[in-house]
Amino acid sequence: MTTIKKIQINYLTEPVGIDGPIQLGWVLESDRKNVRQVSYEVQIARSENFAEPVFASGIVEAADSNHVSVQADWEDIKRYYLRVRAAVETDGGREETDWAQTTFLTGYQNPESWEGAFITAEKEEDAAESFGTYLRREFDVTKPVRAAYLVSTAHGLYHAYINGEKAGVDQFAPGWTSYTKRLLYQTYEITDQIREGKNAIGVHLGAGWYKGLMSFNRTRNLYGNRTAFGGQIVLDYADGSCEVIASDTSWKGSRSPVLFSEIYDGEIYDARLEQDGWAEPEFDDSAWAPVEAVERDVHTLISQKGSSVQEITRLDPISVFATPQGDTVIDFGQNLTGWAYITVENATPGSRVELNYFETLDAAGNVYTENLRKAKETIVYTCRGGAKEVYHPNFSYQGFRYAKVAAYPGEVKAENFSARAVHSAMEPTGDFSCSNPLINQLQHNILWGMKGNFLDIPTDCPQRDERLGWTGDAQIFCRTATFLMNNYTFMRKWLADVAADQTVDGAVPHVVPDILTGHSEHDQFMSMGTYGSSAWGDVAVINPWNMYLAFGDTMVLEQQYDSMKNWIAFMKAHSTDGCLFTYALQFGDWVALDAEEGSYFGATPTAYTCAAYYSYVTGLVAKIAGILGKEEDAAYYQALYAELKRSFAEHFIAEDGALTVQTQTAQIVALVFDLLPETSRPIALENLKKLRAAEDGHLVTGFIGTPYFTHALSENGALEDAYDLLLKEDYPSWLYQVKMGATTVWEHWDGLKPDGTMWSADMNSFNHYAYGSIGEWLYRVVGGLEIDEKQPGYRHFYVQPLTGGNLSWAQVSYESIYGGISVRWEICGEETVLNLVVPANTTATIRLRQATEVTCGGGLDAVKANEGWQLEAGSGSWEIRYK
Ligand code: BGC
Repeated sequence: MTTIKKIQINYLTEPVGIDGPIQLGWVLESDRKNVRQVSYEVQIARSENFAEPVFASGIVEAADSNHVSVQADWEDIKRYYLRVRAAVETDGGREETDWAQTTFLTGYQNPESWEGAFITAEKEEDAAESFGTYLRREFDVTKPVRAAYLVSTAHGLYHAYINGEKAGVDQFAPGWTSYTKRLLYQTYEITDQIREGKNAIGVHLGAGWYKGLMSFNRTRNLYGNRTAFGGQIVLDYADGSCEVIASDTSWKGSRSPVLFSEIYDGEIYDARLEQDGWAEPEFDDSAWAPVEAVERDVHTLISQKGSSVQEITRLDPISVFATPQGDTVIDFGQNLTGWAYITVENATPGSRVELNYFETLDAAGNVYTENLRKAKETIVYTCRGGAKEVYHPNFSYQGFRYAKVAAYPGEVKAENFSARAVHSAMEPTGDFSCSNPLINQLQHNILWGMKGNFLDIPTDCPQRDERLGWTGDAQIFCRTATFLMNNYTFMRKWLADVAADQTVDGAVPHVVPDILTGHSEHDQFMSMGTYGSSAWGDVAVINPWNMYLAFGDTMVLEQQYDSMKNWIAFMKAHSTDGCLFTYALQFGDWVALDAEEGSYFGATPTAYTCAAYYSYVTGLVAKIAGILGKEEDAAYYQALYAELKRSFAEHFIAEDGALTVQTQTAQIVALVFDLLPETSRPIALENLKKLRAAEDGHLVTGFIGTPYFTHALSENGALEDAYDLLLKEDYPSWLYQVKMGATTVWEHWDGLKPDGTMWSADMNSFNHYAYGSIGEWLYRVVGGLEIDEKQPGYRHFYVQPLTGGNLSWAQVSYESIYGGISVRWEICGEETVLNLVVPANTTATIRLRQATEVTCGGGLDAVKANEGWQLEAGSGSWEIRYK
């Protein structure tokens, strides 16, 4: 039997805020092999019984079970129902699926339909404050309601409550965008919270990214002086009428128990100031003050269609202990981003809880907070008294593994603390494991690096006074991220800000949202420039390209196309003699170990890294223009690419064919970015091997060389060298960190030295995903799951594991948009056994490059290939054995 297991709309299950064409995909599941879709039918209706569909495709004879676009005139803020059925050919004949059904909610089709004023309970003189405020109003519902929605957003951060109950489960709404240009609004269904008679809405506001102190430059009020809420409740009555209750100056406001709350510094909360029932009807708000309206251009309001931040994983303490210095410390066993729930029982009113969060202990086993720089990461809770109080921060998050309990009424017991990892909600998609437990811990650390740093935007780190959308970090980690979790909407939302924050001449800021430009005069590095760095700015091209590869989606390429072109134009305008791009501050091979003592800038000259990236991304844009059918552009970028490659060779390849720059990173990027003539490739490879040998087999690479080191080796016939590098256990290496007890990936290879001392406190994050970019080599090369660029999104893919490194088995699984893929290999004596699952409506080419003989094709024909053997598989489970 064949069924439709799930339907996704814009790569999400049951999305909200839809305001334009949608893209559908569905997963076919079958107990048959070689399943190919031959036709489908889609219907969309306002009612669950599909009585009067607003869209009916009829039977469409097509193989597409993804990227099916539907355009219809949606009504504002309405629930729609969508169903799909399909017919397939299988090895057992033709089959038809039943209807499968899903639902979605629309946003405003035109921002001018927005009615709510932006209202604040803060005064101009509160600009330097970061306290919480409450807003409220009551309203009557006089007839039966069919559906009710809250459509809302804020300057600052907000939680909205209907009759005392929180609307939705989001944290850190409305998320972080380039607020002056783009502010997301949320669409919540609140039908179950509305009742006939008296109702109330209450809103809790905090400073957040909008107004709180941000960045190492310590700038506040970056987007405005006062927090504010704007929105409307939309009531659809059973009789067909509709009523909108919009925010306006008739609402009232008050201070909340949050005395202080900011992203970096934590929260101070006085529970004695709680006002019971403040978000419910019949509350006496006579002491509350009138609110004021603030400006907001409704045209900057954009519906949030993608993933929101939520509490995702619960982690209970693994121990509570006393440090040698006598501090009481809770160990959550995992470096994470989020907060802890704190429980207090029978406390005297006014007694205090104070927790200082931190990542690691120092050499003596004491609390170490220096690497947080100026971020306080401190939670102070004043008890109200009563049988049981449970609290977690409202508008702040912490990056931590440990919490020092600086104050607590009574005995500190593990059961009174429980952490939550908080990040953008994304479907987990990929997993990797193998016979080496250290590699499995590395995979765990890579995943937790993503969990810790995908909090509405991709951040560099979650703990110190930074937590910014560093474009370089997001660029190098992107391919790995697309494997781990479905981050399509997350990335697409952030890429829209990349485009929005580009300068008029196309430079991409170092951080997005850009809060450094105009605020960095006194910063050591940033005063040299806040945009236009190679490898950082290239995020504009590389990330959309990676999204296209993983999801086969051209919408993201369309959306970002001008941004890519503008970035190339910027580099071109600041280049001399062909490929020599340079502009202001260049990070180059950031934090590479071949840097001069005390410097962050690796030894590979930035003239070289800039030229390499400029050439590489121009080649990508040429391909992208072709994919989008922009033939003229494709020809233009193709010609520019050829010219840049020629120019690169002229500047950086010596007469003997070797690169003029002899660093590991220089060899790596030239090989992986395909910048070398055939004759120079073996020379670069040999030199790379020599440069590695000179470091006793270790890497000395930074942000630019590290992600591609193993690829440079394995793609050029030096597989065992790649495994050897991966499996190094002493400093500097990925597994060194693992052996030092890391539970996330570090910023520095020697963040924690073998003797327990630390790298300089001014920049030493223990949760930096950048070097987690080794992940993609595990999945693509060790696991062997490789995308086919010509049929992206895993419509057709390659299974081409390269065994080695003394691993006896490895397996990779990935939930593609077509369904679950898995590849597992195991060495059993003379033979390697390969098991794979190919989803319905996809095909795979199995390339056994190391095979001398296929002993069992499992029903598939093995054909001799240039290297080893090759087999073609349709959907289903297959087992192949080879020598
Ligand atoms: C960040 C990095 C970032 C770098 C750029 C650091 O402070 O944490 O990861 O890319 O600055 O210079």
